[in-house]
Formats: sequence, C-alpha cells, structure tokens
Amino acid sequence: MLDFHTPLAEVNGIGQNFIAKLKRMGISTAGELLSHFPARYEDFSQIYNIADLIPNQEATIRGQVEEIEGRRAWHRRNLHITECLITDDTGSIKAVWFNQPYIKNTLQPGRLANFSGKVSKSKDGDIHLSSPTYEVITNDRMDTKHTARIVGIYPETRGLTSKGIRYLIKPLLENLEEIPDPLPKDILKKWDLIGINRAFSQIHFPEKLEDAFEAKKRFAFEDLFLLQIYNLKQKSALARKKAPSVATDILFIKDILNHLPFTLTLSQKKSLWEIVQDTAKGQPMNRLLQGDVGSGKTVIAAIAALNAAHQNYQTALMAPTEILARQHFNTFIRFFPEFDGGVALITASKREVFYGHGLAAELKKKQAEEEVRSGKIKIIVGTHALIQKGLDFKSLALVIVDEQHRFGVNQRAELLNRNGALTPHFLSMSATPIPRTLSLTIFGDLDLSIITEMPKDRKPIVTKSVDPKERTATYQFIRGEIKKGRQVFVVCPRIEPNEKIEAPITRLEWQKLELKSVKEEYEKLSKKVFPDLKILMLHGKMKATEKEKVMRDFLEKRGDILVTTSVVEVGVDVPNATVMMIEGADRFGLAQLYQFRGRVGRSEHQSYCFLFTDSSSRTTKQRMKSIVEAKNGFELAEKDLKTRGPGEFFGQTQSGMPDLAMIAIQNPEMVKESREAAVRIIKADPALKKNPGLARKMTEFQKQIHWE
Ligand code: ADP
Ligand code: MG
Repeated sequence: MLDFHTPLAEVNGIGQNFIAKLKRMGISTAGELLSHFPARYEDFSQIYNIADLIPNQEATIRGQVEEIEGRRAWHRRNLHITECLITDDTGSIKAVWFNQPYIKNTLQPGRLANFSGKVSKSKDGDIHLSSPTYEVITNDRMDTKHTARIVGIYPETRGLTSKGIRYLIKPLLENLEEIPDPLPKDILKKWDLIGINRAFSQIHFPEKLEDAFEAKKRFAFEDLFLLQIYNLKQKSALARKKAPSVATDILFIKDILNHLPFTLTLSQKKSLWEIVQDTAKGQPMNRLLQGDVGSGKTVIAAIAALNAAHQNYQTALMAPTEILARQHFNTFIRFFPEFDGGVALITASKREVFYGHGLAAELKKKQAEEEVRSGKIKIIVGTHALIQKGLDFKSLALVIVDEQHRFGVNQRAELLNRNGALTPHFLSMSATPIPRTLSLTIFGDLDLSIITEMPKDRKPIVTKSVDPKERTATYQFIRGEIKKGRQVFVVCPRIEPNEKIEAPITRLEWQKLELKSVKEEYEKLSKKVFPDLKILMLHGKMKATEKEKVMRDFLEKRGDILVTTSVVEVGVDVPNATVMMIEGADRFGLAQLYQFRGRVGRSEHQSYCFLFTDSSSRTTKQRMKSIVEAKNGFELAEKDLKTRGPGEFFGQTQSGMPDLAMIAIQNPEMVKESREAAVRIIKADPALKKNPGLARKMTEFQKQIHWE
C-alpha cells in the first residue's frame, strides 16, 4: 500500500523518465502527484457513431483499427505523420498524429480502441480526427481513464501530457491507503463537504462534472480553512510577543503637521493615528497601510518614524528598489530639514547620512554599521541591503516596508528578529489595491489602515486611448506641456527588440506586434522628434548608480522627457511630471497601467495619460476603455484579477496562492464560512491537540506558503 508521503521512486510502474519530468513540476511524492489537479475538464462521456460526426466537434468514438501507417511528410522532412483508419458499425474515419511514430506499436490493426479529440475538416472536404487521445480497450478493461468519460486536463510539462499524468495517477488512487481527513467531521457536515478520499478520486476521475465541482469545493474550502487557521495562529503568536512601547507625544506630532507644506487628508490622519496608537502598545503591531497610488503613504510612514525617533527608538524603512529608497531618503530631508536624529540611506552601493541643518556625509560601510549599532542614526532607509548581515540595531522599534508584496516572508522575519527579546512593530505599505475579500484571506493576520481619498488639490488625470494617426498631434501637445515647464514620461514595453517582454502573450501575437523598445524610442525622440529637448533613458539593465543618477537628473529637472521601461511602475514620485505616454499599452496588465498613470497627477497641475497600442482587437479596446474610465484602483484590480488571473496581479508567485486568491475573489461567502470554521476550531482546541490530522496538515501547509 502507498501513503501520501511515499516517494514516487518507490511506486511500482513509474519509470525514472517520468520521475525526472514530474520533479521539474515540483512533484516527488504520491501525495504531491495526487495534489496536481486538473486545470479543466473535457467531456468525452458520450460515445459517438462515426457516421454522426460533424466538423469542429470534440468527440469520442469507439472503433477498430483497420490500418495504420507512419511516413515522413513529403514537403517537410522533419515532420512525421501517422495515419490510422478506424471503423465502427456506422462508418470509418481517419485519425492523424504528428511526430508520434510510436503510436503504431500500440494501435495495431484489429485492436479495439476509444479515440477522443477534435473532428477536423481536411482540405479535400473529408473529416478526420486530429491528434486524438486513444485508449486500447480489452474486454476486462472497459473502465477507461482517458476516453469515453469526463477527462481532466492538467498543467503539463514538456514530454508529459495530460494523458501521461492520468496514466500515472489512476494506479496511485487504487493503491493508496485511506488518507485521514484533516477536516474534522463536524466541519465537513456543517458545510456540506465530501471526505478527502472521495474528493481525490472525484477530482481526477469524475463520473460527471458535478463530481469534479464537489471535489474542488472541498479542496478550496480546505485551503481557505488552513490559511485562516494559519492567520489566527500567527496573530495569537504575535500577541504573546513583546514590543517596545513607543509613547505618543501629541504635541510633537502636531508640530510636525504644522510644518508640512500641506494638510493631511482625513484618512491620512486616521491612518497615522491608528499607527501611533498601535506602536504605543507593548505588543507588536502588524499593519498594512493601503492607499491608492499618490494618496500619500510615505509622509505617514515618515511621521511614524519621527515619532519613534523622538522617543529614542530606531526605524528601518525598506523599499524594493534603490530609486525608491533614495526618494524616501530625500523626502525626509526635504520635509524635515531640521530633524537631527540622523537619517541614513543604506543600499548595496551607497551609505549616506543626514544629521539635520544641512549636515550630510557619505559613510564607509563599517562607519555606517557602527552608527546604526550605537543608535546614533535613528532612521535607516534602504533596500534589501538592510537585511544583509552586519547591520545590528540598538533599539529597533519600527520596521516599515514599502510596496510589501515584493518582499518575501523570510526577509521580513530576518528584520523582525534582529532585536533580541523585543519584536519591532511592523508596517507594510502597498498601493496594490487588494479587494477586501482577498485581504481578509491572504492578509488575515494583518490589521488594515486604508487611505480612501486623494489630496484635495488633485485634478483627475485626463486619460485617452490615442489613435496612431494622432501621434504627431500628441507630440505637439507634449511639446506644449514642456514649454510650460512640465515633464513627461514615455513608457515602453521592453528594452531590446528580442528581449523577453514583461507581459505573457502567445508567440503569434508576439511576432505580429512590432514593439517599441526603449532604445529605439529614445533614439527616435532625441534625434527626430525632439532634437532640441533633453531626453533621458532608464531601464532595468542599467547599473544601480546609473539609474539613480538618471532619476535624480529627472527629478531635478535636468531632463524634459524620461523614456523608460516598467521600472517606474512602483512608487516613483516626480510631481512636476504631467504627461504619461504609454507605448504598447496592450502589453501591460491593467493594474500595471494604473500604476503608470499614477506617476502623474501628483501636483496641482492638470495631468494627462496617453495610451498607444498596436492592436485594434476588441479585448484591447475594452481593456483600454476600463483604464480610461478607472477612477479607483480597487475596482480595476478586481477586473484585472478576473480577466488575467492573479498571477499577473501579484507578479511572480510560486505557491498555491493564485488558486486561493481566485477562490477568494469568486467566493466571498466561502471565505467567510472558512473563517468562522477556523475561529470555532481554534477556540475549542488552540493547539490542535484533539485534531492531530489537522495539526499535521498545518505543518505541511506552513512549509508551502511563501507569500508575504
Ligand atoms: P504613494 O501613496 O503613492 O506612495 P506618495 O507618498 O509618494 O504617494 O505621495 C504622493 C505625493 O503627494 C508626494 O509628492 C507627497 O508629498 C504628496 N502628498 C502627500 N500627502 C499630501 C497631502 N495631504 N496633500 C498634498 N500633497 C500630498
Ligand atoms: Mg509610495
């Protein structure tokens, strides 16, 4: 008998060859293979008469192999064609496969087999089955895996098709010993869910589509449930930890606010208040500050840091890129020129410190480390360099992470553990507008502060999808803006003509589209269109110091136009820029376009966003329309998530999160129910002592999840 943990290498009948391929997909045990679920199903449950087949239908037939032969295609020597003539009582049809010469060995003349696949029309008007799945039938094996039933279509890998995967899974299911169900019986009953053993069998080999749905529902619920338990446990573990309690000096904060060049919006004030209240407590804060692009999160973080510094505590503020880290550092210097508690910028290549009143210095690595260790520097702004070895803090009270979805759990844990007995407070800031059901699920262990409105001097950004014919007119408009003293971003989808682009598309689309590259665009704009203006270029392949220089030049107005890749997507703040021109706009996700647009409209000047596409397809038009009309990131994110899937939305994710995210988005009711179930069980059995199966599953689950 097998169990869930049996290595596939020990399972009879799974060859070395398959093992290697499965390993590529991260599958090496029986349980992992069983947990590789079909992405969708095809219904081949009805067997058709050959005489009844019509072109373009997907169908299963059962017939006898009359003849089969393989040959090279006469026009393309590297193409091998297998043709097979199949007959049943009603007629005959040809089946055709490419580059699968071995089929001849299985489908020998005289054999009875099922064939499932698409009925295609040949040039001469005849119909044939193109590359059907086939399964030889012997009288004692009418119980088919691949044909004449509903079949699962799996995520595949090179050399391992859905058929191959089904072939491997069937015997596993038959030889697996009963799996103990991690979900307690009363929960199964209360939420009307099927047991785990039945669910595994139904998800791989459903008799009818409802079986598959039933199984999916069960697994979805289980995942959400485990995640909720995980969140609850995290939350209670954190509540048991001690944090430095940072007293709130209201007068001090009022004084800071009075010296700002603007008044905070109402929800900025509310968020700030929630944060300083939390940091005053002796338990670590774990809070997410969400606010649309340009809503002014940085200044809130800065004030929280100043408040901590005022009580002699240190704050680490971590940004995903050097450009952003530098920008935050500059924010401190610009808004709080009199702060003399020491603000440092620490990146892989640079260490600078500002002591207030114009006193600034560049530091050697050792020196910087020493000043952080001794507590001389109170606010440390930086990149990943902050979590590299060597940096010890004296009294770290607050860790702030900007655009947190770019950081991993481990990195966060690293920072949090630096402080010995006390756990610092944690604030993460994100402009990724996460719909509420999702944040409840995925960030269920975080408290939320949301900035709901934009600073009130902002005018809505005029957004237009521009017809290629109006390109010249657009350039003229841009020239006008620059004459008025404004600046312009031009975003292009990729760096070199042959480079892999950021948004995934099919090969065909990719070949069809002539993409603008940053370099080409830069050449064109600086030589032909605007030879009299100063054009800068920025892309991800430049060295950090070069990027920084370009950003600084642009910020300090030593350039009129910045031609750039998506590196400007997150967080860059150049208030004087009023035009965002996006080339190849159809190549970007909606959430990404929204982020780009958020780079302008950051001052009292009217701003513009122009979208250029090379595609006139309906979906492109629709997508451009939704960005033109988008007033609010939340709505857009939800749309984006539904049309392009959460992979796009969250960027690179390896864990099971996208699936979960999808479930959560489409099924807020289930999120709620799983949360209730989790609360119930944790209340009754906090250490899961009475539910050992669930406890074991939790341990595995924790290992699986990578998200922040
Ligand atoms: P984000 O939330 O996208 O990180 P930033 O913090 O970069 O936004 O803020 C965007 C711009 O708005 C900055 O130039 C900042 O100084 C400015 N800002 C922040 N709060 C206000 C406010 N209440 N009124 C006017 N401008 C503000
Ligand atoms: Mg920001």
